[in-house]
Amino acid sequence: MEKKRVLSGMRPTGKTHLGHLHGILENWCNLQDTYECFYFAADWHALTSEYKNAAVIKESLIEMIVDWLSVGLDPQRSTLFVQSWVMEHAELHLLLSMITPLGWLERNPTYKEQQEELADKDIGTYGFLGYPVLQAADILMYKGNYVPVGKDQLPHLEITREIARRFNYLYREVFPPPEALLTQVPNLGGTDGRKMSKSYNNAIFISDPADVLAAKIEQMITDPQRGYRKDPGNPEVCGLFPYHRLYTDPEVVQEIDSTCRRAAIGCKDCKKQLIKEVQEYLAPIREKREYYLTHLDEVEHIMHEGTDRAREVARHTMAEVREAMGM
Ligand code: SF4
Repeated sequence: MEKKRVLSGMRPTGKTHLGHLHGILENWCNLQDTYECFYFAADWHALTSEYKNAAVIKESLIEMIVDWLSVGLDPQRSTLFVQSWVMEHAELHLLLSMITPLGWLERNPTYKEQQEELADKDIGTYGFLGYPVLQAADILMYKGNYVPVGKDQLPHLEITREIARRFNYLYREVFPPPEALLTQVPNLGGTDGRKMSKSYNNAIFISDPADVLAAKIEQMITDPQRGYRKDPGNPEVCGLFPYHRLYTDPEVVQEIDSTCRRAAIGCKDCKKQLIKEVQEYLAPIREKREYYLTHLDEVEHIMHEGTDRAREVARHTMAEVREAMGM
């Protein structure tokens, strides 16, 4: 039976952190056997917020791909490509922008949220408002059946579905409206307890050397009510505990839960344990990173091959689109 197609992308705007690893990349890896996966580096999307510092995109791009390969994305099973290397995305973006009512973009709830989140950046641009149209072009180009999304991204996907339906209505049936593949995102906060983000300077990166990683975990905010070692703690409000849930053997997690609540374990020891678990988890990833960082030609070759595959599909879709529109 033909596999259904999954499409997803990631913006190269900085280093990959543990939130990306467990919230996105692991999921991408798990989908590789069941679906035909197209994963792309969304460098044009990165420009919507980083246009003043475009050089950071190129720097981040190669590192991001190295991270993808190191955590288990497999170019034999997935098509890995770079968005801006497939110029057809720009053409489809332009054509779809002609049929997208402005109100759909202005009403997009994430538009306002993002403006607040990226308040330090001037993103009152045409490109930023049109971000969901570019996203629609990326997805529809490959006629993706599914898009892995967290709940907060559902409105964006809905715009893609609306654009697909509008195109099909105006011209002819070309684009299947993609479905959401809802993903569970573990609630990993940054070292200061806020959302993990490079702009808050609280992120733990895949590329952090062992000593830097240990220092970051040592600084992490635990249960703020637990002033002294003799005070019982509450794992439910501790920023460290979700990490244990992810990295530590479930029986040990149970034990930490109960010993913490009766003050039989101190936060220092608890952190030591976590450092050990995370280092073990990251060891094979670090080894692969080392390999790919010293074999960048291979990385580039993988991306060119993937992009060639993607471009072939894109050319086919664009021929259909132009024909449907009578262009
Ligand atoms: S013992 Fe562990 S789980 Fe309990 S508050 Fe300290 S760091 Fe958090």
